[in-house]
Formats: sequence, structure tokens, C-alpha cells
Amino acid sequence: MSAAPHSSTVPSWLVRPDDANALAEAVWPVSAVRDEHGVLEVGGVAATALREGFGTPLYVLDEDEVRARAARTLAAFRAAAASHGVAARVYYAGKAFLATEVVRWVMDEGLAVDVCTSGELAVALAAGADPARLGFHGNNKSVRELEQAVSAGIGSIVIDSWIELERLSAIVERLDATQAVLLRVNSGVHAETHDFLATAHEDQKFGFTLEDAPAAVARIRELDGLDFVGLHCHIGSQIFGTAGFRESAARVVELHADLLAGGEIPVLNLGGGFGIAYTSVDDPTPIEELAQGIADAVAQECDVRGIPMPNLAFEPGRAIVGPAGITLYEVGTTKSVHLDHDLTRLYVSVDGGMSDNARPALYGAQYSARLASRTSDAEPALARVVGLHCESGDIVVDAEYLPGDVAPGDLLAVPATGAYCFSLASNYNWVPRPPVVAVRGGTARVIVRGETISDLLSRDAGVEADSEGNA
Ligand SMILES: *Cc1c(COP(=O)(O)O)cnc(C)c1O
Repeated sequence: MSAAPHSSTVPSWLVRPDDANALAEAVWPVSAVRDEHGVLEVGGVAATALREGFGTPLYVLDEDEVRARAARTLAAFRAAAASHGVAARVYYAGKAFLATEVVRWVMDEGLAVDVCTSGELAVALAAGADPARLGFHGNNKSVRELEQAVSAGIGSIVIDSWIELERLSAIVERLDATQAVLLRVNSGVHAETHDFLATAHEDQKFGFTLEDAPAAVARIRELDGLDFVGLHCHIGSQIFGTAGFRESAARVVELHADLLAGGEIPVLNLGGGFGIAYTSVDDPTPIEELAQGIADAVAQECDVRGIPMPNLAFEPGRAIVGPAGITLYEVGTTKSVHLDHDLTRLYVSVDGGMSDNARPALYGAQYSARLASRTSDAEPALARVVGLHCESGDIVVDAEYLPGDVAPGDLLAVPATGAYCFSLASNYNWVPRPPVVAVRGGTARVIVRGETISDLLSRDAGVEADSEGNA
């Protein structure tokens, strides 16, 4: 769903379900089922067993789902590119969810990985990633970060500004290295969910305007240590349909064509942003259709200009990990609030909130939820799932129908939390960040340990350590 303010009554898209226990196919991992007792199971592991083993709140990542999505996405872009006689590379956008295990899964499936800070780079390298299969982007990479990336032998760096261009050139000269670089451009197309906006200049912090790009590319080509390999563009996130990508590709290919006068350009990187389903009414475009639509648009623009089709690169994050993750919470309290129009809203408070999922508070993101420890025949009630933080905007699921008898001790699962939840998590109200557990074939294992109160206290310089150095 598009970003919407928290609804005062029932949002128009929300449909009262016949069965408030049903798991909508597009929103849950393929492995999500209910066992014979009605308990939710993911990757063959029961939600109740996960609570017992790891506590709540708990991020649960379905390894097979991540792998399958990575493989399917790569196959889709490769097939679409191959239909026009070129190759495609797919970078997993690490910022969606980054841990060494996930880097290994996606690289194992043939993807490259995109990072945008030295922290993300460190995680990728700690996973044993081949640096040649890493890309580095971002609008304010420090001298230190660029040095680290160049020294590590990173595959490519996306130059975002004039200052960075000269900064990187000096570093490369000092390190006596040669670095493949792309140039980030603003196509003037900004896409969000179902619509896109096309302007002459996009009013945002990333990249070069289409007008300034030729001078920047000419400068890169002048410098011995920098090897210009192509343009880079990323138009937004959670995008449905191909229209925004096609419009953007048309604009960027025009620039790409003009730049060919100065030399070959092997790659065109069109970024990520492919949308996923967060609620049962979301209907994301299948990745194969997106890939073919974008590749066809690039091919058509190249044809018109009589230029060779470049190899393509893409950077999906959310579409790889988003639907593979669920968050498990335990219900602590409930209360009914009488609204206007004979309407009652059931507030369901869980043991997490905006510290483990900032997206609803940050931009009104919509989610769905289901009872995970049991099913219920109780009448579906209009519910709002809220967290434990001291903010009324601390909402996990703004509007959902849950069985009306939801009660303290019940487990609640929120699907489609694999992307931008763990990576945006905070310690607000000094709540320790939950662990991340990977499930596969009936077993669960911790891939990121949860924080403890001692972890939090250990950073407070005013807390006296005991003889063992523990806070
Ligand atoms: C965030 C980002 C992505 C990934 O976006 P998703 O919506 O997760 O696919 C890709 N490329 C760049 C440059 C980004 O900033």
C-alpha cells in the first residue's frame, strides 16, 4: 500500500475476511502453513517452538524463500537481457537486510552485493564475499570509506558528486590503483508505488542531473585511475508496474547514447525498487514481467538511436528479502475503543514496536497480522497492533481484522518484515534489538544474536564494570 496516514476509521482497501486465520499467499513465505493444531509454521518450524527457543519479539527469515527469490530474480533479469543479446548482473541491495549469512545465501545463488557504508562493506567482506562482486554507492562516502573500498579491490564504485569524483581520483592515485566507476544520475523520474512523477530536475540529494553528467563523465575519462563503466540510476522503492522504470530508462539511454562518442560504455545500472505485497490487496508485478518490460524499453531506446544495447545491472533489495521475513510478537494487553459510526477498534499491544519495525511510524507503511499460536473461530474484529513504546504513533499494523478473542499470551505474526525492519531497528526506550533466526527444513538457528540489557549498559560510560569487565 502507498504511504497513508494512520486511518481514523477503516481504510477503504481493508476487506473484512471470511476467515481471519487465512494466510494470504502473496504476503507470506511459500513455506508458511498451519499445522494440525492451527499453529503457524514457517520453514517447517512452529511459531510456538520459535518462542520457546528464542523468545519474542523475534525476526524469522526463511532461508529457502530468500534463496528462491534471489535465484528467480537473477534468472528473470538474465533471460530478459539475453532476449536482447546482452548480459545482466543483479546486485542484492544490502541495506534491506545485511548479515553475513544472507550475503552468503545470495552470493551462493549468483548475485553480487551492493553496500553503501564501511559497515555494510565490513559485513560483506566478513561473509567472505569476493570484493570484485561488490558495488559501493551512497551520496557521502568518506575518504576512509573510499580508501577501504579501493584497497579491498571492490568491483565498482558509484560516483555521486563532483567532490567525490575528485576525492576518489586522489585516493586511487595515492594507492596506485585503477577503479571501475559508474556515475549516479537523476533521471528526473521519481516513482512511488503505482504512480511516477517525471520532472526536469529531481529535487533530491542523490547524483548528477542529466545536464551535468556529460561533463562529469568527460572528467572521469580524463583521469587515468578511474575507468568509466556506465551510468547508474535508481528511481525509488516499492514500485509497482513498469511505467516509471521505462520512462527513466528512456531518459538515461538518451544520455548513454550521447556519451558513446567518448568511448564504449559496457553497463547500464537501473537500480532497484521492485515492489512487494504487504497486505492481501497489494498486487506486485511479477519480476519476470518487470525484467522483460525494462529490458524491452532499453532495447527499444537503443534501437531508435542505432546504438548497441549495453549489459544491464539491477539492485533489488526488498524484493529478495521482504517477503521471506516475518516478525513474531507476544500479545501483552488488549483494549476496545469505541469509535464513531458504531465502530469498535481493538487495540492489541505486543512486546515490540517501532524499535523493530520503524516503517509504519516513518512513512505510514501498512502491514497485516495473524494469530500464530492458534486459530480462532471468533468473529473478526477491527484491530490495531501497537508496540510498547512511549509514542501514540508506535503502530505495527494500523488496520487489520483479527479474531475478536485475541488475548494476552497469544503469539502474533506480522509477515513481509524481511526488508527494512532489522536494518532500521533502534534501541528506542532502551529496548534491546531482537535476534534474527533463520528457518529451513524444520530447523531454526540464530544468524544475528539478540541484544541484552547488558549490551546496552556496556556502552554507557557511566556504568561501573564488575571485575570481569561486564556492565
Ligand atoms: C535502496 C536502494 C536499492 C534497493 O531498493 P529496494 O527498494 O530495496 O529494491 C537499490 N539501489 C540503490 C542505489 C538504493 O539506494
